[in-house]
Amino acid sequence: MAEVSKTQKVLVVGAGPVGALAALYAANRGDDVHVYELRADLRDPSTTPLNFTRSINLALSERGINSIRNAKSGELLEEIITETIPMHARMIHGRRKDGELYQESQAYDANGRYIQAVDRASLNKRLLDALEKLPNVTLHFNHKLTGADFNKKTAWFEQQRHAKTDHAQNPSQNDALWHDQKRTAEISVTFDLIIGADGAHSATRYHLMKFARLDYQQEYIDTLWCEFQIAPRPSDSSFAIDPNHLHIWPGGSLMFIAIPSLDRSFTCTLFAPASHFSSVSENPEQKLVKFFHKNFPGVCPELISTSDLQKQFRENPHLPLISIKCKPYHYKSSVVILGDAAHAMVPFYGQGMNAGLEDVRVLFDILDKHGVYDSETPDPAARDHTREAALDEYTSQRAPDAGAINDLALQNYEEMRSSVQSPLYKVRKWMEETVTIYLPSLGWRTQYTRVSFENQPYSEVGKAVKRQGRILIGVVGLSLLGVANPPIPQPPNAPTPKTITIQQRITELEGTLAEISRAVSLLELSEKQHERFISELETDCEN
Ligand code: FAD
Repeated sequence: MAEVSKTQKVLVVGAGPVGALAALYAANRGDDVHVYELRADLRDPSTTPLNFTRSINLALSERGINSIRNAKSGELLEEIITETIPMHARMIHGRRKDGELYQESQAYDANGRYIQAVDRASLNKRLLDALEKLPNVTLHFNHKLTGADFNKKTAWFEQQRHAKTDHAQNPSQNDALWHDQKRTAEISVTFDLIIGADGAHSATRYHLMKFARLDYQQEYIDTLWCEFQIAPRPSDSSFAIDPNHLHIWPGGSLMFIAIPSLDRSFTCTLFAPASHFSSVSENPEQKLVKFFHKNFPGVCPELISTSDLQKQFRENPHLPLISIKCKPYHYKSSVVILGDAAHAMVPFYGQGMNAGLEDVRVLFDILDKHGVYDSETPDPAARDHTREAALDEYTSQRAPDAGAINDLALQNYEEMRSSVQSPLYKVRKWMEETVTIYLPSLGWRTQYTRVSFENQPYSEVGKAVKRQGRILIGVVGLSLLGVANPPIPQPPNAPTPKTITIQQRITELEGTLAEISRAVSLLELSEKQHERFISELETDCEN
């Protein structure tokens, strides 16, 4: 009888941030882990730089940090955090009607919490370094998943060997000194579990579709993005703008953002509908600078010279944004997809990678809960059964959360590119932060705080924020009733009634925290009770 292995053989497809973290979690539980990555090792200096189709730096926040912390990998989290830059607030840039440029800082969190700017490659390198130290992990670079049979638990990879050929021996290649010649060989590998973390265009997901009844929805939004760089000040190599902010130039249907990097530059991203890109691309020499002047005042030539702007627009790719939802994430006990492979989202909440890292923590919490790692002498059939039950639970728990953050990310585009300048947005932010600070026991937090600084399931964030919204509308609406109500006829000698503007009413709200408190304490009440409360409040106001 064949000897039963005590350890599970886990293949991780994709060594991006999510795949690398998943491999760490599995390895720390004793699995025999093999990571297969399509590209070459990004830590190898001789490797041709990656043709990045994803942005260079990212916002790392609580969910990602918490998941790295839970990997229990020595100093890994500290090493990663050392290489980040805190971003305490958004800095909104614009031009006043009188033509003057302005900047307005909007803190991310009433309690001072912040997000971290991190370089994608250095985060990925740290994770790979941590993996390489573990004896039960093997990294296979230049391996592309090409096929999988999830019943037979066998996967096929194309192994790419790069052989460099001297130009002299290959004169047909007259546009390059070196010619990369790819030779491929196919290998087959057996496994107990495959974790597919191979990004938005996942091959694992593609093969999973042939086995599971997988619902799949993908949408390209009408926005392209292109990266630019703001160099450090030439005079003293300092940051050209405040480094502890995520800078935003909102522009209605467009947006330009800048995130700080450790080398004191900023990586910037232009987001705009495809029609704007094509219009500017028709004649960038004439149109690009005008486009920036009009929509993103203070960027060119103040922060990026005209020639650099032109060059970067010409040379950097103009890329689409995809949003993907699918379900289930697994098939039986043999495969599960995580990260962008399961739920690629638009980047406007800065949550794509954070959500993917959180997938890893949630998955392994569930595997642990089901006792997948409990038995020292496993019965393979029982182990498969337990793993399948755990993966079932993972899909049931995680799909609503991933769907919720996909939707919130789309909604946040509107907030970033235009709402941040609206007075109504600012009033709501102010009110919510006032309640958060002065009445902490109520548990009132903004949506941004719940998403970026906490680990509450995304699907619950939406519900809680909707409830808060209803309360706020009730309280503010009723408080404004005095303004909306028609004047009541007065006796001839009565003093002239005081006119109250909406602005004054809003200011008065500062003194009505007790009322808001009463309202908020009803957050958990039923719709009926809530309606009764609102009607009571209405009567109070009318009196
Ligand atoms: P990926 O990073 O795509 O990694 C997948 C890996 O799988 C790659 O290394 C790839 O080479 C490999 N692979 C692919 N196919 C195969 C195959 N067949 N076989 C083997 N290997 C394969 N997220 C945030 O949290 N914060 C942000 O601020 C943020 N900003 C963003 C800005 C922009 C403009 C964009 C586009 C995205 C942003 N994101 C952000 C999202 C974030 O980039 C992704 O969510 C994250 O990279 C997903 O990680 P992943 O490991 O799942 O996939």
